[in-house]
Amino acid sequence: MDMNEKNIEEIVKQVLQGMTPKAVNSVTKTTGGAIPLKSKAAMLTALEKYEIKEFPIPNIGDDDILVKVEGCGICGTDAHEFKRDPFGLIPLVLGHEGTGEIVKMGKNVKKDSAGKPLALGDKIVTCMIFKDNPDITMFDLNKQNVGGADVYGLLPDDEIHLNGWFADYLVVRGGSSVFNVSDLDLDSRILIEPAAVLIHAVERAKTTGILRFNSRVVVQGCGPIGLLCIAILRTMGIENIVAVDGEQKRLDFARELGAEKSVNFKDHKGIEALAEGVKNAFGGYLADFAFQCTGSPVGHSNIYKFIRNGGGLCELGFFINGGDATINPHFDICSKELTVVGSWVYTLRDYATTFDFLKRAKGIGLPINKLITHRFPLSQINEAHQTNLRMEGLKIAIINE
Ligand SMILES: [Zn+2]
Repeated sequence: MDMNEKNIEEIVKQVLQGMTPKAVNSVTKTTGGAIPLKSKAAMLTALEKYEIKEFPIPNIGDDDILVKVEGCGICGTDAHEFKRDPFGLIPLVLGHEGTGEIVKMGKNVKKDSAGKPLALGDKIVTCMIFKDNPDITMFDLNKQNVGGADVYGLLPDDEIHLNGWFADYLVVRGGSSVFNVSDLDLDSRILIEPAAVLIHAVERAKTTGILRFNSRVVVQGCGPIGLLCIAILRTMGIENIVAVDGEQKRLDFARELGAEKSVNFKDHKGIEALAEGVKNAFGGYLADFAFQCTGSPVGHSNIYKFIRNGGGLCELGFFINGGDATINPHFDICSKELTVVGSWVYTLRDYATTFDFLKRAKGIGLPINKLITHRFPLSQINEAHQTNLRMEGLKIAIINE
């Protein structure tokens, strides 16, 4: 009797010892925790009004991925939707600058859009959804940019509901572009989408043949877009960068991110004086190339005056219609023989380039993570958007708890 009891005790002990570590391992390795039956999602139900709703997490199909959201940046597009709903999408779950961890995936999901293997626990971002145009591949640089394609966070509501990144979970459906970005930290991953806009702009600028290592480059507008532009130029090895803005705090940050000099337009009365200020910052020369990163028509009119004869301009500030701008075609473009390119959103290929930029920027010590100035939990999403509308910070992010 005694022996038997002791034996059983021993056996139970051994079994428990053997089981405990295995059980822990299997949880962290496979799902990162149990998947709940429902997911919270911040649904924009009216202008300037998010409601936190709960939706059942649906079955994941053979080509689908369930992502546990870690965070998502608030974009200018989200601000427009929040204030005016220009796309007529209300009610919807917004958030397209998001990232998270794969917690469940269908049996057909093996690789990401760049051919990298995908596994449970990997950190991913999504790009375009190609439901109408499945033949676009990321290495077709000349194929269309994301404009006109669907992205998670700007989809009409449907029976799945978990369509945007301002939620605890997102259902990534087959046919979506997905990238494995497990080697980037959370801040970098949140900055991928806005940074891709600038990678695209710089690629567009390079088509002019004017942008070179020793070019003098002026970047007008030091919001997140202009600041990322400066960081990318610096990472490419362009050092002679002058930043132009009206806010000293932003200009100081532009210097931290790689601008050599800065010009506060409030210090100069009129465009002639401002152009002189830019020229002085370059040591008596006008810029070889300019990036226009404000949404202001006056900003567009002004920028021509900063550029030398034979120089180039990339206009990327007008994501939405900001109205007409006045220029003098004779002085500003024709007699100067200026090369002007426009840039809007990005291609899939730019996404892959962006991952390398983010690693290199960190490598050369650019503090790009400081672009994220405010972090809010999902439950405070209304407050986060109001803070964004007050333009108190740079990039404002929802960080899930
Ligand atoms: Zn965006």
